[in-house]
Amino acid sequence: MLVVALVLLAIVWIGAVGSRSFFTVQLMFTWGTFLASVGLAAAVWRRRLLIYATSIALLLIGAASLQVLVLRPDPSVDPLLFHSGVWTHGPVPLRVGWARAAMGLVIVASGLALPFSIARRHNLALCALTVLRLSLWAGAFWQVAYFILDGRFERLTDRAAALVQVILAMAMVVSWSVLLPGDRRWLRTLTDSDRTVSMARFILPVAMVPVIGAYLTASGTRLGLFAPDVGLLLNVEISSVTLLLVGVAALRSLWRERRGRETLANALERSPVIVHSEDGRIEYWPRGCEALYEYTAAEAVGRRSSELLQTRFPTPVKDIEATLHRQGEWAGELSQITRSGRRIWVASRLVVDRPTSDPGLKIVETLTDITDLKRTGAALTATNDAFAQAVATYELGIVDYDAGTGRTSFSPELERILGVKPGALGSDQRVWMSLMASSDAQRVTGWFYEDVRNPTTRRTLTIKVRRADGELRDLQGMLRYSLSADGNLERIVGIYMDVTDQLRDRAEVAARGARLMELQSELTHTSRLSAMGEMAAALAHELNQPLTAVGNSVGAIELILQTDKPLDDKVRQRVLRAAKHAEVQAVRAGEIVRRLREFIARGEADTQAEDLNDLIDDAIALALPNPGAVQVQVRKSIASEAANVLADRIQIQQVMVNLIRNAVEAMREQDTPRILTIAATASDGMALIRVADTGVGVADEAVETLFSPFLSTKRDGMGVGLSICRRIVEAHEGKMWFQPAEGGGAEFRFTVPLISREAKYVGN
Ligand code: ADP
Repeated sequence: MLVVALVLLAIVWIGAVGSRSFFTVQLMFTWGTFLASVGLAAAVWRRRLLIYATSIALLLIGAASLQVLVLRPDPSVDPLLFHSGVWTHGPVPLRVGWARAAMGLVIVASGLALPFSIARRHNLALCALTVLRLSLWAGAFWQVAYFILDGRFERLTDRAAALVQVILAMAMVVSWSVLLPGDRRWLRTLTDSDRTVSMARFILPVAMVPVIGAYLTASGTRLGLFAPDVGLLLNVEISSVTLLLVGVAALRSLWRERRGRETLANALERSPVIVHSEDGRIEYWPRGCEALYEYTAAEAVGRRSSELLQTRFPTPVKDIEATLHRQGEWAGELSQITRSGRRIWVASRLVVDRPTSDPGLKIVETLTDITDLKRTGAALTATNDAFAQAVATYELGIVDYDAGTGRTSFSPELERILGVKPGALGSDQRVWMSLMASSDAQRVTGWFYEDVRNPTTRRTLTIKVRRADGELRDLQGMLRYSLSADGNLERIVGIYMDVTDQLRDRAEVAARGARLMELQSELTHTSRLSAMGEMAAALAHELNQPLTAVGNSVGAIELILQTDKPLDDKVRQRVLRAAKHAEVQAVRAGEIVRRLREFIARGEADTQAEDLNDLIDDAIALALPNPGAVQVQVRKSIASEAANVLADRIQIQQVMVNLIRNAVEAMREQDTPRILTIAATASDGMALIRVADTGVGVADEAVETLFSPFLSTKRDGMGVGLSICRRIVEAHEGKMWFQPAEGGGAEFRFTVPLISREAKYVGN
């Protein structure tokens, strides 16, 4: 393009040298330059109407000048174009005709090219803009050149001034070619830089200057204000200044462009960008790539990147090439290996570039290291999967309130729990609240206000919600509040699980447990009653004794009082003694009845401080009211440290009664002395109570099952006594076990907490 333009310029220039009639050319160029400027500005601003108008005007001028040349090679037509025929002389020599023809063609070419500039992205449009600009430059340059070379010019001014202008003009051309040696891309800066918009604003008024100048000087000359030569000189000066201004602007634009490109190049150098030649070899490998892949430019340039980096493509390379061919670009994620063997992930974007200066195409690849992103992404996916799995496994329903949009979303599982169709809940939080039992809704709302003011990040709750079919379900859930950095509420996520069935099961278990406890206490009580039944005879006999004694004493008193004799002191003393005896025996009988009543009473288990001595005495009195009758010696020893226990009196008595009765039973057939030892010592914060006998003992194989219920060696035994005893002791946090007694017989041991131990705990 440049070459063509320069050749054209040269033709015009050489042609003009021999001409003596430069004015026609100058006028044509003035108009051409002006219109080309207008067209260029219109093209930049994309004013279609103006583009077409300018195009037509340029074609007309071009056609007119060609017509002048072909049909009437007479410069006298010039006044038609411009109303100053002052400087035209005679027939035009043929050489000048060529020059004018060339210029005419340039103008016609501008006119033809202009409409193409509308489609700016098109190559033809770029050519059109270039033609226009060249026309402009050529025109402006020519105006100066031909005046300087005009023979008459020498007469008007001295050579020094002319020389200055020649130097000026030449400097401009030279600067263009020297400024960017070998870099022919400067032409593009004239065509597709965004800066052409600001250039257009500049070009248009400046282009007006020679035209206005020409009008003024022509008019001035016609009106006789100054001599034609002076007018001509003025015109030359004005044109020169114009050229200078346009030239400076162009240079500035070029300089800026260059600086911009340098900045860009620096940035590029630091970015991971690869330029591939058409055959896929690396041509450009900036520092950015060196940093990313650890290969130096020397190692990388000339290689194929897919081989160098062992690239794994997401799709077959053929497909990528096809996409590149079809759309001119491709983007995707690649897995590659760096020089040190590290596997990295990059987001790659390939763009096909067809540089104007180079034959063949280039593929520019921009890369972004997304290894960390990928890794985080993978972790996130794993977390999401795990979460989704948890949601699916535990059938979790999710209510997600977004404070930003005020919308609430409900997960499909929640819709299923509530028995509604997908999407039926909409996005209103109030719909959700309305499904809750009103007390729950109030509670949740209360929390909401509390938590917003005083943020807690988590809340657990159990609420009742009404399903679409009216059924009430229990949901157990957790609320999580997300707050922004400045403390504003962003989200509330509620995760809910339907626990209706579990709660029902739990209630059933609890009910079963309560029933079991009732049964147990029933059993304990029954066992006491049965023991009572068995003890009844002995106790009746026991009760008989004091009652008989009371009877006897009262009889004796009666006898004494029946005599008419006055009561002397001796008699009075006897009566008093008998009465005292009766009282003591009555109290004894009352005690027996009290113990019995206590023992069979069904009361709530009540643990309190008890005197172990009393407790054991009562138990012995109940279980063995008359040891002499069964020939049993009772040896009781309660250590003083073990005297105070924390126990349910009746229950521990039941244990003691049971053990004593079993012991007596075991010694029934015995000829040797029947000794029942009851001892209590303190050990480790517990009272250890031993009940030992000298009876038949327990066979080894029976020891295992001793405490199992319903195993008895007795004819009428139920075998539940020991199992109940052990449970009572364990309920007291004690232990109960069996061990053979020294010298034969059986020994049962159990522990109950000592009061001092409790006191110590409280003290701590
Ligand atoms: P039951 O007295 O109704 O048989 P227990 O649970 O009180 O029920 O006793 C279970 C069994 O343990 C008795 O049948 C007896 O064989 C054995 N047993 C209990 N105490 C003694 C003891 N002091 N000496 C020998 N055997 C005993």
